[in-house]
Amino acid sequence: MPKEHALDFERLCREHSLAATHQRRIIFHAVTASPGHYSPEQIYATVRAQIPSISLATVYKNLKTFIEAGILREVSPHHGTLRVDPNLEPHHHLVCRICKSITDIGAKFLDPVRVRRAPPGFNIEQFSVDILGVCSKCARKH
Ligand SMILES: [Zn+2]
Ligand SMILES: [Zn+2]
Repeated sequence: MPKEHALDFERLCREHSLAATHQRRIIFHAVTASPGHYSPEQIYATVRAQIPSISLATVYKNLKTFIEAGILREVSPHHGTLRVDPNLEPHHHLVCRICKSITDIGAKFLDPVRVRRAPPGFNIEQFSVDILGVCSKCARKH
């Protein structure tokens, strides 16, 4: 496990007034160890190797806590199933409609996206664009 993650985690927890517990550290590392957009089940499988007694519900609850604290991001909350995203930089997603894979693309791949105006009373915190299509792996199979 790269050392920066441990340092980041302590700092992030301090900045977001979250207790940096052992359990949370392991869950956070499972999400951030390699880039991706993981489901709670995938993270649970990783975390269980280190904390065999942990439950999926506990992993899920902690992921929600991280998201609420702003330490992790949720990919497209309206899609129904939770996928967490450790990439907090502004970016967008390529979503394959066949295998459901999600790939980050930086803002430079899109024309500048700007929110011109939000309806009165709506407070914008972040936005991202989902580009739906078929990934290269799936395209080769069809
Ligand atoms: Zn695909
Ligand atoms: Zn992402």
